[in-house]
This record gives sequence, C-alpha cells and structure tokens, in this order.
Amino acid sequence: MRVVVLGPPGAGKGTQAGKLSEHFSCGNVATGDIFRANVAEGTELGRAAQEYMDRGDLVPDDVVIAMVTERLAGDDCASGFVLDGFPRTVTQAEALDRRLVDLGSPLHAVLCFEADEEELLRRLAGRAAAQHRADDAEATIRHRLEVFAIKTRPLIDYYTHRGLLVTVDAIGTIELVTKRILDDLDGNRRPG
Ligand code: AMP
Repeated sequence: MRVVVLGPPGAGKGTQAGKLSEHFSCGNVATGDIFRANVAEGTELGRAAQEYMDRGDLVPDDVVIAMVTERLAGDDCASGFVLDGFPRTVTQAEALDRRLVDLGSPLHAVLCFEADEEELLRRLAGRAAAQHRADDAEATIRHRLEVFAIKTRPLIDYYTHRGLLVTVDAIGTIELVTKRILDDLDGNRRPG
C-alpha cells in the first residue's frame, strides 16, 4: 500500500500513519519526525531545517524532496509506504509523481484529514504542553495553520483531479478514525 496522509497540523496524521504502516507492514515516512531527529542530532540537514521549523514555515522544497527521495529508496519502503507530512506543496507533489513514475509504483490513495479549526487548536495546545514542541506555541500554531491553507490546501484539488483523494473525518477516537480509513481504503483500493 502506498498512501499519502494530508491534513492540517493537529489532525492526527502522525498517529494514524503509525497505525497504517503497522497494519500494512510498510514504511512510515514522517518528514517532520525526520527533521526533528536531525535537529536533535545537530546534522547539516537539521541545521538547514531548524529556523524554518521554529517559525512554523515550510523547509525549502529542494531540501525536503532530496530527503524524501532518499528515504523512499529504503528497504522498508519496498513493500509500500505511508507518507506523513509530504508532499506539502504542489512542487513537492509533482516531484513525488515523477519519482513514483520512475519506480513504476503509483500512489493508491491520498487521505485528507478534516477537523474544524477549534478542535485543531485544542489538540495542538494539548500537544504543546505534553511534548514541549517549540512549533506548538500559540502564535506559531496559527501561522502553521495559515501555511497549510495557502501552500498545502491546493493539493486537495491536485489529488482530486487524479482520482486519489479520500476524505477522512478526523474527529473521534483513534480506533474509530483508523477503522474509517481502513474501510475507505478497502472501497478505494486500486489493484496492484
Ligand atoms: P510536522 O511534524 O509534519 O508538522 O512538521 C514539522 C515541521 O517540519 C513543519 O512545520 C515544517 O517546518 C517541516 N516540514 C515537515 N514536512 C515538510 C515538508 N513536506 N515540506 C516543508 N517543510 C516540512
């Protein structure tokens, strides 16, 4: 299974991506997690990404695309992958398309998580308290929601036109949302 998980910060993408990669025994590629690990390790990639992350801005496309291209070549992605947090711009989506054409392995679905803004703000405030993520401070949260609306929302049309978009109601328990997704994927699954 090759899926993209799309949605605003706080919609529960990371949690569900973990569940799906376990369910399908495939790779889980979470770009935010990869960046945070690199920042923590003080790598060159981490240094390149940190200022953007702290502001709640997107890391430049070329940096992210190179990182994901390398990651998709990993052994764990040979059986499929869940892409969490990538693509986030049309440029990234086009680069992903080209890469997957080269590999002869198109996406099966793009899951678009939907939750109202009040619920997102509530969840993100909870996460800020629990995980001390610098980018979960309130002003930065609002900025990240704006960045999502401007840069990432166009991907909804992009994938709708390609017949790949599956909208997921992200409100509910973790188990309920996972069940919704698996039911939807069963209904939408392409052969191969
Ligand atoms: P996340 O954990 O997915 O919310 O990502 C945390 C931060 O990492 C984002 O606010 C961006 O600064 C950066 N990031 C993660 N994925 C991407 C991406 N696909 N494109 C650009 N920046 C990204």
